[in-house]
Amino acid sequence: MKEQIEKLISAARANAAISPEDYINPEDGLLYCGACSTSKEKRLNGFGKEMVVPCMCKCETEKHARDEAERKRLEQIAKIGRMKASGLQDRSLYNYTFANDHGDNPLMKKAKAYVEHWPEFYEQNIGLLLFGAVGTGKSFFAGCIANALIEQGIPVLMTNFSRILNSLNGMFNEDRNEYINSLNRYSLLIIDDLGIERNTEYALEQVFNVIDSRYRSKKPMIITTNLGLYDIQHPEAEDIAHARIYDRILEVCQPIFFKGKNYRTENAQIARDKISKILSD
Ligand SMILES: [Zn+2]
Repeated sequence: MKEQIEKLISAARANAAISPEDYINPEDGLLYCGACSTSKEKRLNGFGKEMVVPCMCKCETEKHARDEAERKRLEQIAKIGRMKASGLQDRSLYNYTFANDHGDNPLMKKAKAYVEHWPEFYEQNIGLLLFGAVGTGKSFFAGCIANALIEQGIPVLMTNFSRILNSLNGMFNEDRNEYINSLNRYSLLIIDDLGIERNTEYALEQVFNVIDSRYRSKKPMIITTNLGLYDIQHPEAEDIAHARIYDRILEVCQPIFFKGKNYRTENAQIARDKISKILSD
């Protein structure tokens, strides 16, 4: 046993990275690093005998820590890449970031506040209902929150009901439930453009199932819609299908009104101005 250990130790000593600058310190007889002047060996007591075993000098320890930090950093980048691929199904959403915000929509500070206070919103299951006319920046607002949270390693799914209904189509009941439950694995669920899906009994049933399942999971959701708040708060008396969907949403989502100018039209106008300027120059 002892001999085996000694063999292992001498093999380790032989394998240790020894550079020509390394030296044996006459004071303790141990191998020292020529670069950082700290020992590459230490003495241990084991099996009733003192042994010399290799260890990392200061510069090797530091290099090891740097390599480890780099490995973790790359791992995190890969993880966030995977989270984006799974959570931001529409590639254009990748560009919906605070860095790309032109700063002309004052509501954006609410998006930043939502991200800053995310742990509290999550804990208390407080979502948002972003409503207002087409092109007023609701999807951009929600997309910025999605990207910022994903960058922090928080699972977010941003999708819409057309996509969800497409996925549910052709599934059996059990699979449907499983699929709907799978949406709740995300800490935040963002559903863009509520109200543009078909108003069939089947579609409304599935919309309700998704919203109700999310509601029961006690995890927040953000809904964007072109519908008016009055219509959401006061669906027609006989329209029970919509009423129960909106009830759930209003219970857990804080409404924010997007009254601003139509950024989509404005952006298109800026693009057109640019083109006409290029052509007239
Ligand atoms: Zn060293």
